[in-house]
Amino acid sequence: MAKYQPVIGLEIHAELKTKTKMFCACKNDPDERHPNVNICPICSGQPGTLPVINEEAVHKVIRVGLAVKSKISEITKWDRKNYFYPDLPKGYQISQYDEPICLGGILNIPGFEKNIKITRVHLEEDTGRLAHFGHIGHSLVDFNRAGVPLMELVTEPDLNSGDEASAFAQELQLLLRYLGVSDADMEKGQMRVEANLSLKVAGEKEFGVKVEIKNLNSFKAVRDAVNYEIKRQTALLESGKKVVQETRGWNETNGETVSQRIKEESHDYRYFPEPDLPPLKINFAVVEEFEKGLPELPADKRKRFKSEYKLTANQIDILIGDEKLAGFFENVVSESLSNIEPDMVEKEKQAIVNLAANYMLSDFLGLLNEASAEVDDTRIGAENFGEWIELIHKGAITSRAAKDILKEMWASGKDPSQIIEEKNLDQIEDAGAIEKIASKVIADNPKAAEDYKKGKETSLQFLVGAVMRESRGTARVEITVDILKKLLK
Ligand code: ADP
Ligand code: MG
Ligand code: ZN
Repeated sequence: MAKYQPVIGLEIHAELKTKTKMFCACKNDPDERHPNVNICPICSGQPGTLPVINEEAVHKVIRVGLAVKSKISEITKWDRKNYFYPDLPKGYQISQYDEPICLGGILNIPGFEKNIKITRVHLEEDTGRLAHFGHIGHSLVDFNRAGVPLMELVTEPDLNSGDEASAFAQELQLLLRYLGVSDADMEKGQMRVEANLSLKVAGEKEFGVKVEIKNLNSFKAVRDAVNYEIKRQTALLESGKKVVQETRGWNETNGETVSQRIKEESHDYRYFPEPDLPPLKINFAVVEEFEKGLPELPADKRKRFKSEYKLTANQIDILIGDEKLAGFFENVVSESLSNIEPDMVEKEKQAIVNLAANYMLSDFLGLLNEASAEVDDTRIGAENFGEWIELIHKGAITSRAAKDILKEMWASGKDPSQIIEEKNLDQIEDAGAIEKIASKVIADNPKAAEDYKKGKETSLQFLVGAVMRESRGTARVEITVDILKKLLK
């Protein structure tokens, strides 16, 4: 056993998807490219203005709290967190200090089957953004993001490795997306992770001194930064030195953490109750309604997909990773099972489900990726996809023809039977028709025919391939093989 055990707690911020900002009526538009258009006297910190609480943002945080089984507070309050920075127009951030909206909770990280305790989920406002133009010696500030509702979720120090930390962040992102509360795109800064890490002597209770790592803007960065920091702290302790409590940044290029500042304590922020906002009493009738209205959450869907469709863990992960893809898959399966004989055996049903999963994860995702499209953009409806799977299952089309048909379905939105008719892609089972093609192929390839006769088995495969090409993939393989063998006796 290693001498030191890593102890990790995460603080994760996510920008909420709301119509307006947290305390004013300005538009909350993360895609706005023109600086300082979505601003007003409130979010630009003018004297004499008063904040108004955004109900939609509070509701979204309550739904997150319910999804992670937090206790929703009956009364929640707002606090000022004071610090100076040019992107913070008021000189303080309205946040929540000692009475957050959600307390406690739990989130299971898949793959590790480990429950991570959640300390709290609260609501605050985002800052603006600085843009530095070194070559002209100026920095400019854009306040479009200032005052955008920001959710912060804090975990207990229950994580023990870079992989676990990264998996937790990934599961939270998925949850936020399922709830429709945030797009949580890390590349766009909509979800930002800070990792707190210390080492503890294995077997002992007491925690070590922790370091906070900021600027983690991808799952890979979370994992790599944590792993780096574990090594760095281990080396320090093993050489008899001490870990300093500080904030470090992650330098992606060099793959190392660098000291940014000696860690501030919460009293440095001089938190005090926000005098411009009364404490908020939460309406529990609404909370109950939200609880009933929660969608099927990723963890539950994962379990159901396992028992209902018996797919592999990897297949389930990919399907669940995109709620729309998971929904499309379920519709396709129900369509392709809609015409089956009532006495169809379980084994055959499972074969159809497996076909649907395999083709969706290879060919269909391939088409989506090629076009950088999303499930919603496709012209292939679940009904047509289901029919296509049925045709493959029945052996009515060869797998080669199936691929061409799918491409055509993708391009035109037509249903498979129409495409088969138009393009004559029915599987040829008629021995006479196949024999005609096979005779032509043998005549065109005398050398391969001779070689096979002399005992070269691979030449037969070559000839089968040629028949397939000639028939555009419609000749039934088993029949083709028999006929070629007969002709070459
Ligand atoms: P701070 O006031 O410095 O922000 P908190 O007690 O609020 O510290 O904790 C912030 C985060 O750090 C939480 O996710 C918590 O789980 C984690 N944490 C606290 N103590 C430790 C520790 N010794 N090692 C690792 N993580 C820790
Ligand atoms: Mg902190
Ligand atoms: Zn505003």
